[in-house]
Amino acid sequence: MSEVFNFCAGPAMLPTTVMAKAQQEFINWQNTGSSVMELSHRSDIFMAMAAKAEADLRELMAIPDNYKVLFCHGGGRGQFSAVPLNLLPQGKSADYVVSGSWSKAAAIEAKNFGDVNIININQDTDTQLSLVDSKDWPLNPDAAYVHYCPNETVNGIEINAIPDTNGVPLVADMSSTILSHQIDVSKFGLIYAGAQKNIGPSGLTIVIVREDLLGHAHTATPCIMNYKTSADNDSMYNTPPTYAWYLAGLVFTWLKELGGVKEIEKVNQEKAALLYQAIDNSSFYLNAIDPQYRSKMNIPFWLKDESLNQQFLDESEAAGLTALQGHRIVGGMRASIYNAMPLEGVKALIAFMEKFEKKVN
Ligand SMILES: *Cc1c(COP(=O)(O)O)cnc(C)c1O
Repeated sequence: MSEVFNFCAGPAMLPTTVMAKAQQEFINWQNTGSSVMELSHRSDIFMAMAAKAEADLRELMAIPDNYKVLFCHGGGRGQFSAVPLNLLPQGKSADYVVSGSWSKAAAIEAKNFGDVNIININQDTDTQLSLVDSKDWPLNPDAAYVHYCPNETVNGIEINAIPDTNGVPLVADMSSTILSHQIDVSKFGLIYAGAQKNIGPSGLTIVIVREDLLGHAHTATPCIMNYKTSADNDSMYNTPPTYAWYLAGLVFTWLKELGGVKEIEKVNQEKAALLYQAIDNSSFYLNAIDPQYRSKMNIPFWLKDESLNQQFLDESEAAGLTALQGHRIVGGMRASIYNAMPLEGVKALIAFMEKFEKKVN
């Protein structure tokens, strides 16, 4: 089989070197004679690996000491429930900024647990999809927290500047943008991310939470969703997703060897710039998102002649460029180009797009 570049939005491609390493030690990890997934999460050897993965993530993101890092189950959607259960006390309300489909889903789930104030910031015109600038968001100064999604995976919309919430804890769903560019973690109360976009396999969720936000959970919070319980038990109150944790650790090592987030950010910028340039320079493809809010991870584009969609998908797949179909609610195409997507993959996609346009035009 010749080389495939997988543009899936999630679960997404992993670095080939990481998977080769996992394969090599799959049935005999560190001379234990066992697979890492067969070992007790409380064994010294597993705990050492787990601690190293956390230390590497802390280093990669420069996470301050007054933040806990939790390795949880339940995916991004699990956090849609866990966040209000832990951070939204009775008598308070939370601001949910809605910029696309994931932030909307988070708001709808949070409503099951408390008082939610939805702030819709979409500001579309006939020709462009845009957002209200964060300084004009009508935030409630007494809110328990402000929730937003810096990168809308489905819509391809990114909010680059970290909003200023005037001291109200800021909660961010970074499922599809974590580790893709440098951020100042101290500006956030809580960051969460399902692993399957930029970290590792699905089944693992990372939560980074400021310590003063722990310990206020609703009494009915399931223990496996209680941040304080998880923090007090080093994410091992119940059996954590051990194999996913191990693979995430390998990805963190890979990223450190590449030079860390600072270096991957440059590659990510270059990949996105090349692809948007190719789209904008053609009269055949289109991306209607306001350039200042364009995602660098998930790039949707539309063929102006939609009747060619299926042919585009069939031929791109045959050319080894897989999973380019857009999300069903927005249609068209979507290229997800997370950290693991090499620059050559994006160049191969652009070359294919140009060839396809010439051929059918
Ligand atoms: C993928 C994704 C989710 C959902 O993650 P699950 O692990 O499937 O629950 C939530 N938010 C964002 C921004 C995502 O990209």
